[in-house]
Amino acid sequence: MKSSSVFDLLAEEHHCPYCSAKLTLCHAPSIHVGDGLGWGSEYLFICLNDECQLFVNGWKNIENNYGHVGSYRHMKLPDSNENYSMMVAGKGAFTGSVVDPEQVKRSNIRFQKEREAVAELATCVEDKNLAPVLYLLLDDHVALDVKMRAAEMVPVLNDLACIEPLRNHAFRDPNLEQTVNLAIQTILAAHFLKECPYCAELIKARAKLCKHCQKELA
Ligand SMILES: [Zn+2]
Ligand SMILES: [Zn+2]
Repeated sequence: MKSSSVFDLLAEEHHCPYCSAKLTLCHAPSIHVGDGLGWGSEYLFICLNDECQLFVNGWKNIENNYGHVGSYRHMKLPDSNENYSMMVAGKGAFTGSVVDPEQVKRSNIRFQKEREAVAELATCVEDKNLAPVLYLLLDDHVALDVKMRAAEMVPVLNDLACIEPLRNHAFRDPNLEQTVNLAIQTILAAHFLKECPYCAELIKARAKLCKHCQKELA
């Protein structure tokens, strides 16, 4: 089955056969139809018009047939001709799951940036380009395996400029944190440097006195 991106779906226009209102793109709820069958889609087009005949008449229908309060919303599955009258418990049933185009735009921009950074990893060493490595390591949305690949580039790039931003970041995964720490140690050793344990400035590995904070080093 064809699966349109949320971007494509936001551009689509579908109308309710009951009230002709434009259907609203919503995140599919995590409920199941019938015997454990999901919607098969992350998104649904739903008529959220409270004046819709299906919705207005549904209250009576459900009370008469099922003896509880509820109504129907018209729903259409993306990339399919399937339409449903979906039972809802109240007016607000889907208002919290409406897809926010601005948020989609933001996460798409983020996704594009991540894709570019991943592509740049392949040439970052010859380009002496630390930027994509830092971007991937410091952005919390990036997947762990991608972060690990970026971390492997840190000692190869051997750029002291990475130390401050990496030290200022709290890594959530202990493996990744250890890999980054080792990478920093490797870079420091390659430059005959160490971090002052008191003021965190970089100083000569041989120093017995920190030139920045004047503290005596063990
Ligand atoms: Zn409608
Ligand atoms: Zn110091």
